[in-house]
Amino acid sequence: MELRIAGIISESVVDGPGYRFVVFAQGCRHACPGCHNPHTWDPAGGTAVRAEELLEQVKAARMLKGITITGGEPFLQPAPLAWLAREVKKLGLDVVTYSGYTWEDLLAMSQKKKDVKELLLSSDYLVDGPFILAEKDLELPFRGSSNQRILDVPQSLQAGRPVKAYFS
Ligand code: SF4
Repeated sequence: MELRIAGIISESVVDGPGYRFVVFAQGCRHACPGCHNPHTWDPAGGTAVRAEELLEQVKAARMLKGITITGGEPFLQPAPLAWLAREVKKLGLDVVTYSGYTWEDLLAMSQKKKDVKELLLSSDYLVDGPFILAEKDLELPFRGSSNQRILDVPQSLQAGRPVKAYFS
């Protein structure tokens, strides 16, 4: 299953808890002023890669707590990323997914798009919402602006409302 990525980091400690394999999905429509990754916006940019290849790279990495799927906007390519997230969870790793869409946006999108729902359901944590320059806060762990929330996906689904997760 093919997708376009802006890049990977095989070992990161700044994209979620513990050591993480990070996939930067290519393509984003949010156009947040002040975005640090405008090279990820063009959906035709980046590099084509098979999700199966990314899984093999995850398997080859050591000491991982999980993977982080960020971008760009991961939910523009939900099918291959949902597949990757599901396979990674079978290895006992966790999944942090970033999105410029809010939790509420993604729930609404999930009603119409099965793959969006799959990627959401395959994520343990969602860091949601666009980067808002006026709410930029360099002190925040794992996110750039104070509107963005770190949500516990299973707990949010169970509660029927967004439930914040606290990892540092
Ligand atoms: S969602 Fe992320 S990648 Fe997309 S424009 Fe906003 S900050 Fe940049």
